[in-house]
Amino acid sequence: MKDFLPFHLPDIGNDEIDEVLKSLKSGWLTTGKQTKKFEEKFIEFLGGDIFAIAVNSATAGMHLALEAIGLKKDDEVITTSYTFTATAEVIRYFGANPVFIDIDPYTLNIDTTKIEEAITSKTKAIMPVHFAGLSCNMNDILKIAKKYNLKVIEDAAHALPTTYKGNLIGTLESDATIFSFYATKTLTTGEGGMLITKNKEIADRCKTMRLHGINRDVFDRYLSKKPAWYYEVVAPGYKYNMTDLAASIGIHQLKKQWNFQEKREKMAKIYDRELMNLPIKLPPRSNSDKHSWHLYTIQLNFSKLGRDSFIQKLYEYGVGCSVHFIPLHLHPYWKNTYQLNASNYPHATEVYNNIISLPLYTKMTNNDLEKVIENIKKILK
Ligand SMILES: *Cc1c(COP(=O)(O)O)cnc(C)c1O
Repeated sequence: MKDFLPFHLPDIGNDEIDEVLKSLKSGWLTTGKQTKKFEEKFIEFLGGDIFAIAVNSATAGMHLALEAIGLKKDDEVITTSYTFTATAEVIRYFGANPVFIDIDPYTLNIDTTKIEEAITSKTKAIMPVHFAGLSCNMNDILKIAKKYNLKVIEDAAHALPTTYKGNLIGTLESDATIFSFYATKTLTTGEGGMLITKNKEIADRCKTMRLHGINRDVFDRYLSKKPAWYYEVVAPGYKYNMTDLAASIGIHQLKKQWNFQEKREKMAKIYDRELMNLPIKLPPRSNSDKHSWHLYTIQLNFSKLGRDSFIQKLYEYGVGCSVHFIPLHLHPYWKNTYQLNASNYPHATEVYNNIISLPLYTKMTNNDLEKVIENIKKILK
């Protein structure tokens, strides 16, 4: 299809391309100056007294965070079924068990009123996910965590930039927050992620474990004037470091983040206005906080047309869309391992049956947006 509008395209400019070329020509391809600069700029972007540890995916970052808080076999971590499998798989790396909770049917985030009843003597942490870029109720989560002495690891794969009560996600009082720079995320480095923490011990442990458990700062080892050959291995670590090539993309993507967010917010408002009177549910929003608008989701609850036929029709009209998420309790691995029953997740199941993610990205033109809107109107008429 010649003028097919894809569900997503990354927004990569000449500044990203030039910076990558410079990196390629510099002779330094792995973790080095560019990665360090990206981390420093990321700290500046979020603001506050935080550490930033660049990694090669958010999955890697979440794994490192759980290792740093000392997650052990048979521990439990409370999270949401309405997420990508990465959130829960990292818990299984330790032989620990995710405990899935249903979502709030309005926000599509973890239902915080259900967390306390899920806590047992084995519970070690809570992993909230800021779905689509709308913040979870972090006050409730942090309060419960404090009361029961639990750790909080935020899956912020969708939440750059998102605020909660005026503060950017990444600057709250959780133990670690992890952003994703996967190809479709609001900031992309192709593959990549950033772990943020206020806790120096967690930061130090994650820095060591992201590069083979080597107890010498990666930048110190690569960049110092002292002989670089000596290092000590203090733990069986991982290979999770970010390359300078990826960081070179990230440095420029980061500069544009507020501009990108504004563009998506504007488009989201146009979707709201144009789709308001159709038999669909519009995405939830906050009156006071910034939504990253990583995703714009509609739900077909009031339409006779099924979700799958709707997607097929839109595709035939030349518009790509997607579904976020197939809840974890419906995937064979999670369902069979934990004997999960959809009736225990009525909201996540119902939302999944009706939800569609529409194209929403900065490379879209007004005509593209118009095309999506017109075709949705045509289908739902
Ligand atoms: C994309 C995504 C991840 C995984 O990010 P990677 O950088 O690909 O590891 C984790 N959680 C959620 C909710 C995501 O959407």
